[in-house]
Amino acid sequence: MGKTVLISGANRGIGQQLARMLATTGWDVLVGARDLAKGNAAAARMRKETGGRLKAVELDVTSDVSIARAAQKLRDGAIQIDALVNNAGVYGAARGADGVALTVETNFFGPLQVTLGTLPLLRDGATITNVTSGLGSLSNLDPEHRRALADPTLTRDALVEMMRAFVRGGGTSWGTDAYGVSKAALNALTRILASELAPRNIHVNATCPGWVRTDMGGRGAPRSVEEGAESVLFGVTTAETGGIYRDGVRIAP
Ligand code: NAP
Repeated sequence: MGKTVLISGANRGIGQQLARMLATTGWDVLVGARDLAKGNAAAARMRKETGGRLKAVELDVTSDVSIARAAQKLRDGAIQIDALVNNAGVYGAARGADGVALTVETNFFGPLQVTLGTLPLLRDGATITNVTSGLGSLSNLDPEHRRALADPTLTRDALVEMMRAFVRGGGTSWGTDAYGVSKAALNALTRILASELAPRNIHVNATCPGWVRTDMGGRGAPRSVEEGAESVLFGVTTAETGGIYRDGVRIAP
């Protein structure tokens, strides 16, 4: 029986390329898209290109209702997931407090809520891949928050509260912008979830695609979408857990 992967934000960019690569190698691919019409179009396009099995699933990672509906739909179809890729993300969203909230909701709370919502559907031994960024490096944070996120005793609840406080404070107090903070927090969340899910042998890692020529990365980025997706792919099949990787090489948080 084929393996099943769910990728959020897979209607374009790195998520779409990853979907294409996994479909080509025989995976059943659930193409997560907040706009179902775009998801259906992308799935149809990739089915044609690859001859693989791809199906769109409506999934807005900032909406608890959307996440619950997607999970219910998969449950109704008796679908179990072997790999979850939390790829959907935003960069340089609207400036100001709204932009800060949207960035943190999408890049940090999105992966957390999608993970919690789909956890009952994940097989033991599954992988979870959180797509991170070099801009989330702890070295970009001020010393106080660098220490807080690096603290191995940091709990999920405490991290969530820190992120809520960051948004409440308007997103200005950590030494870098909301995107960098959201990805630094995602890296810390990755470490925490890896240890929480170890009893089920679920491997949780963060993978960085590098700076990639997508709508987000822009035309001047040095890496192709294929190179970016290849770097993310490592998380889907690895037996490692709790680390941050670029091109299969562990990097510092
Ligand atoms: P992209 O081309 O801008 O695509 C972003 C994808 O995320 C789109 O499918 C978008 O859907 C989706 N998305 C945004 N908000 C969403 C939401 N609330 N719910 C569901 N889907 C949502 O970006 P990309 O370059 O492929 O980036 C993919 C991931 O790589 C992101 O996590 C990003 O932070 C990370 N990354 C990218 C780079 C880079 O240089 N490109 C570097 C480091 C890390 P719509 O089409 O509906 O907008």
